[in-house]
Amino acid sequence: MSDCIFCMIAKGDIPSNTIYEDDNFRVILDNGPATKGHALVLPKEHYADLFDIPEDTLADAAKVAKKVAASMKDKLGCEGLNLVQNNGSVAGQTVMHFHLHIIPRYSDDNQKILWKPTQPSAEELVKIRDTILGE
Ligand code: AMP
Ligand code: ZN
Repeated sequence: MSDCIFCMIAKGDIPSNTIYEDDNFRVILDNGPATKGHALVLPKEHYADLFDIPEDTLADAAKVAKKVAASMKDKLGCEGLNLVQNNGSVAGQTVMHFHLHIIPRYSDDNQKILWKPTQPSAEELVKIRDTILGE
């Protein structure tokens, strides 16, 4: 994808603050970070989203995230961490190249959890379960 900004960054065609790189991935600092150290795992191949990315590549992205998360705990001293991955604009995806957010969390980071819980009835939950199971 020649006009995809994350393709260009992942392949090194435009500069980024890279904190990890291997043959298939580059991990960069997000330039609009939620917290100190917020990073993005970018596959070097272009995949739009979770539906598009092959299973093996997704598994490898999770392995990369685990490595980087360990160094965030060690070097930045974060107390917790969110892994976030948005699919589709309705879910907040703004760059249509698969990426996994690694968001270190600190007790004083002034951020929130991502959703507010709702209170469906037991019947509604069963209905949703059956819909997903195709029953
Ligand atoms: P999403 O909303 O999941 O698509 O996330 C896109 C993320 O990419 C946002 O957190 C942006 O701050 C970040 N971002 C967009 N362009 C760049 C860039 N050129 N370098 C670093 N991060 C970027
Ligand atoms: Zn791309």
